[in-house]
Amino acid sequence: MKQSNDKFRESFEKSPIGIIFFDKEGNLTDANQSALEIGEIPSIDDVIGLNIFNEVDMGSKEDELLEKGLINIQVPVNFDDNKKLGIYNTTLSGIAFIDLTIFVIDSGFLVQIQDITERKKGEESEEKYRSFFEDDLTGDFIATHEGRVIDCNSSFVGIYGFDNREQALNSDISKFNKSSWINLIARLKNERKIRDYQSWHKRQDGEKIYIIANVVGTFNDSDELIQVKGYIFDETERKKAEEELKESRDHLEEKVEERAAEIAEANQQLKENEQLLKEAITNLERSNEELQSFAYITSHDLQEPLRTIASFSQLIERRYKGQLDPDADEFLEFISSAAKRMKDMIQGLLEYSRIGRVEKGFVETDMNLKVEKAVSNLHTSIDESNAEIFHDPLPEVIADPDQMVRVFQNFIGNGIKFKKPQFNPRIHISAKPDNKGKEWIFSVEDNGIGMEKQYTDKIFEVFKRLHTMDKYEGTGIGLAIIKRIIERHGGRIWVESSFDVGSTFYFTIPIKNK
Ligand code: ADP
Repeated sequence: MKQSNDKFRESFEKSPIGIIFFDKEGNLTDANQSALEIGEIPSIDDVIGLNIFNEVDMGSKEDELLEKGLINIQVPVNFDDNKKLGIYNTTLSGIAFIDLTIFVIDSGFLVQIQDITERKKGEESEEKYRSFFEDDLTGDFIATHEGRVIDCNSSFVGIYGFDNREQALNSDISKFNKSSWINLIARLKNERKIRDYQSWHKRQDGEKIYIIANVVGTFNDSDELIQVKGYIFDETERKKAEEELKESRDHLEEKVEERAAEIAEANQQLKENEQLLKEAITNLERSNEELQSFAYITSHDLQEPLRTIASFSQLIERRYKGQLDPDADEFLEFISSAAKRMKDMIQGLLEYSRIGRVEKGFVETDMNLKVEKAVSNLHTSIDESNAEIFHDPLPEVIADPDQMVRVFQNFIGNGIKFKKPQFNPRIHISAKPDNKGKEWIFSVEDNGIGMEKQYTDKIFEVFKRLHTMDKYEGTGIGLAIIKRIIERHGGRIWVESSFDVGSTFYFTIPIKNK
C-alpha cells in the first residue's frame, strides 16, 4: 500500500500534465509541479484552499460536471494587465489558453491542466493564413515542379477559369503555357525566386490571358527543386490596352511616314513643276523677245518700201493729175490713203513693240498730273468736240510716267472718238483701292456708243476694231498698247459696256509698298 502510494506520489509529481486536487467543497488540497509551473505559482502554499468554483468560470458546464462527472473547458486567460488571476496568475503577456479537464472523484475533484497556448496560436495563425490566402486578390498557389497544383486560392481558380477549387487541385498548370513553364522552372533552379514573370496563357475555356507571376522555389536537402509557390495576377486588360495603344501608335507612325512620303513626293513634283514653269517662262520670254524684235525689225524695215510707194504715188498724183482719166485719179487717191493707213499701222506696231523695250525704271508717279498731261496733249480734239474731262483725286503709283500719260491719252482719245452723235463727250476718271488693299482700280467712264458684250475681250487685241475706217478712224492698236503697258506694270484691264449707253474701262496698278 505504502509502495503503491509512493509510486503514485512520484508519477503525480513528475507528470508533465498538471494535476490539481480539490475536496468536495471545491477547495484546493494539492497540485503537482507541472500545475504550479503552468500557473507560474511559486509555492503550493499560495494556492492551498482556493475554491474551484470561485476560480474557474464553468458557466452552464457546472451542471454538466455534476451530472456527468467530467467536463473539459478551454479557458482563454488575458494576462495583458498582469492581473493576479488566482491559480492562473502568470507574467506571460497576451492571451494564454489553459485546457482544463475536471473529473468528479470520490474525494472531490481532480483537475487536469495543460497549457495549450502554443497549439492555439498555431491553429489561429493557420486559420488567419488560410483566410488571408483565400481572400487574396492575387491567385496564390503551390505546385510541384511539374506543375501539379497542390494548393490554391479562389482567385487562382477564377483566373484560370476552373469550375471550382477541387478541379484546380491536381490539375497541371504547365499546360496553360508549356514553354513558359519549362523556362520558369529552369530559371527558378538558378535564381530561386523570380519576380514579374510575364507570359500569355491559354486558360481552361481557351481564352487568352496575360499573367504576371511572382514565384519562389522550394528545394529539398539535395537542393532539388520540388515545389513552386507564388502568386499570379491577370493583366490581360492592361496588356491588351497597351498592345492596342502600341498598335495604334505604330499605325499612326505608319500613317505619318506615308504622309511624309506623299509630301516629299508632292514636293518633288512641285519642284519639277517649278522647274518646268521656269523653263516655260524663259522660253516665253525668249520667244516674246524674239517676237518683239521681229515686230520691231519688220515694222521698221517695212517703212522703207512704204515710203517709196507713198512718195512715188504722190509724185504721179502731182505730175499727172487731170491728165489721166478720172478713174486713174481715184485709184491714185486709194493708193496714197492706203499708204498713209499702212504707215499709221506700222507706227502703231513700232510703238507696241517698243513698250517692253523701254528700260526706263518705274518711279513714283502722281496720276493726277498724268491725266492732266494727257488732256493737254489732246486739247485740240477736246475743244473741237466740246468734251468734258474730269477726274477725282487720284493716287500716286509706282509706274513709268510717260506710259501712264499714254494710257490716259488713248482712253480719253477713244472716249471722244466713239461719242454718240448729238452728245458732247463726257469722261470721268477715278480710282479706288480693291477689297484687299493690294491694288488701285482705276476707271475711265464715258457716255459714248458702247459695245455689245461679246466684243469686250476682242477689242484689246492688236488691229481689232468694231467699225470701218470711214465711220471711225483708227488703226485698232490703241487698246492693245494700253493692255501691254498695264500688264507690264503688273495690272489687269477689262471693260464694262452697254451698247448705246457708254463704256467704263478699268485697269489696276499695284498699291506701292509703304
Ligand atoms: P482704234 O481706236 O484705233 O480703233 P483701239 O484699240 O483704241 O483702236 O480700239 C479698238 C476698238 O475698240 C475700236 O475700234 C472700237 O470699236 C472699240 N472701242 C475702243 N474704245 C471705245 C469706246 N470708248 N467706246 C466704244 N468703243 C470703243
